[in-house]
Amino acid sequence: MWTYRAPLRDMRFVLEHVLQAPESWAHCADWHDLDLDTVEQVLREADRHARDALLPLNAAGDRAGCRLERPVDGGPTTVHTPPGYREAYAAFVEAGWPALPCAPEWGGQGLPLVVDAAVREMLVACNHGWVMYPDLLHGAYETLAAHGSDELKARHLEDIATGRTLAAMALTEPGAGTDLGVLRTRAEAATDGSLRIHGQKIFISGADHDLTQQVVHLVLCRLGSDAPPGTKGITLALVPKWLPDGTRNAWQVDSLEHKMGIHGSATCAVRYEGATGWIVGEPHRGLAAMFLMMNSARLHVGLQGLGHQEIAVQNARRYAAERVQMGRPIEQHAAVRHLLLRAEAMVWAQRVIAYRAARAIDEAHHHADADARRSAGAMAALLTPIVKAFCTHHGFHSAVLAQQVYGGYGYTAEFGIEQTVRDARIAMVYEGTNEVQAIDLVQRKLLADGGAALAALLDECAEAAHGAPAEFAEPLAREIAAARHAAQAVLAAPAVALEVADDVLHGLAHTLVAWACCAGARALEHLAADAWSTATRERLRYGVRGLLPQAAAHWARVEATAAAAD
Ligand SMILES: Cc1cc2nc3c(=O)[nH]c(=O)nc-3n(C[C@H](O)[C@H](O)[C@H](O)COP(=O)(O)OP(=O)(O)OC[C@H]3O[C@@H](n4cnc5c(N)ncnc54)[C@H](O)[C@@H]3O)c2cc1C
Repeated sequence: MWTYRAPLRDMRFVLEHVLQAPESWAHCADWHDLDLDTVEQVLREADRHARDALLPLNAAGDRAGCRLERPVDGGPTTVHTPPGYREAYAAFVEAGWPALPCAPEWGGQGLPLVVDAAVREMLVACNHGWVMYPDLLHGAYETLAAHGSDELKARHLEDIATGRTLAAMALTEPGAGTDLGVLRTRAEAATDGSLRIHGQKIFISGADHDLTQQVVHLVLCRLGSDAPPGTKGITLALVPKWLPDGTRNAWQVDSLEHKMGIHGSATCAVRYEGATGWIVGEPHRGLAAMFLMMNSARLHVGLQGLGHQEIAVQNARRYAAERVQMGRPIEQHAAVRHLLLRAEAMVWAQRVIAYRAARAIDEAHHHADADARRSAGAMAALLTPIVKAFCTHHGFHSAVLAQQVYGGYGYTAEFGIEQTVRDARIAMVYEGTNEVQAIDLVQRKLLADGGAALAALLDECAEAAHGAPAEFAEPLAREIAAARHAAQAVLAAPAVALEVADDVLHGLAHTLVAWACCAGARALEHLAADAWSTATRERLRYGVRGLLPQAAAHWARVEATAAAAD
């Protein structure tokens, strides 16, 4: 049996006591009267929806996969999703879930992104393949809201916000993966102000499907014959499936990828043959506009890692309580006990870190004070690559640890863990590989501002030590000191930054783990003891002694590499 129950008490505790989300909302005009009881109702309902509508389709969708239909008359191909996906999506739209963080003026519910983050964690835990379809909606909505013309917004924005239209993000080409500067899809301006797009894209998630009538692609292309080379000559275009006059646009899916996991998600090779599109933002400045969509997507992908870990660990914990070897449940064997505690502590810390990033994005857009918006923006920019890379790295590796708990049964398709391992793997690759996230962190976030945003983050982490038990405050102080020292070493030897980028990212992520455990332990001090708080404190203790020693290896490599460069 593969089951799921959202950790609602953990989620509320993190929002209320660790991140003080209601205090943050009080500074935002749109949410000053939002209360946690209302939010908890939303989360309860999301948990029920994820379990009832999505979890039952998870294994079946994995087995069935997607199907490409090629009409015999040579007409455009059609993509069919696994049985049940269409109905589940209709119910999802009907219940208003796609619109949760979108503005009410476009049909949205206007809730904070941090609430949406908790909902997404649940959805992806229950069915990653299915979630791939609505996962890009919010990024597309934000990109169009910020950069689309009034005409494009009027035509598409409300349908995207409410989920009646689904969106795909078309960047990758056969020769252009990480290096988007060499992409070749081209666009010509037509006399009516629209564009004609020609080219081939690969690996496009949800480029076509049968969940909605309309699908819009946000396509990166080169406009005109005089587009500057490299990333400075890339334009963003919106290319719908159906044109305003009701005719089918000139693109189609050539093939579907056969892949390791997320079989329910259609990963498409797309051919544009003079397809009609409309520019989004300025000519040749498409990559900057697309970054809005990619940043939103990077947080979501980090939440995919978190969701995978939560469901993997929940099920492994239950299996370990039931499976008896050597006369006792395997959870009582030290190796299994520690493995589970380690994975549970990691999930707890990552939830705090991911929701902190979501809170920063909320404040960057909605805080009443301009300075607070600016510093929240810098915090969001710093945390986003960490959340994407750290949560997805452990999304996969904790799933493998959980698989180990199942012994040989974990290798069979009988239990859901084998699918989770396969599904979780892709999150380390797409939305910018984890190596790219590390480069982004050191080059654009650390070196670019001389470490200012990092210093602000570490100052915030240090505050958590005040009033916290010494067993948490002291390790946190040590981790912060090590992070400051290593950051100085990198700033003093920028030539080694790329070599140590991955270690910097994981070292800093462990500092945040120390912060999350300390902030959690401090908040627990003010709660009456019960079974949940006792178990949570134990998890946090394990986080300190079981997870933090990893940080030393990362920092040692950073220091040694920087020293060797002297
Ligand atoms: C299931 C799936 C769904 C996807 N969905 C989408 C989608 O919806 N839209 C879309 O546009 N794309 C999508 N992609 C594509 C995905 O974003 C790319 O696969 C990813 O960006 C990596 O590109 P690549 O595969 O060409 O690998 P490459 O760029 O060739 O990279 C190969 C390896 O080299 C490393 N590397 C490359 N350059 C550098 C560098 N400068 N420094 C350090 N390391 C480097 C990478 O980290 C990686 O480990 C999807 C892919 C898959 C498999």
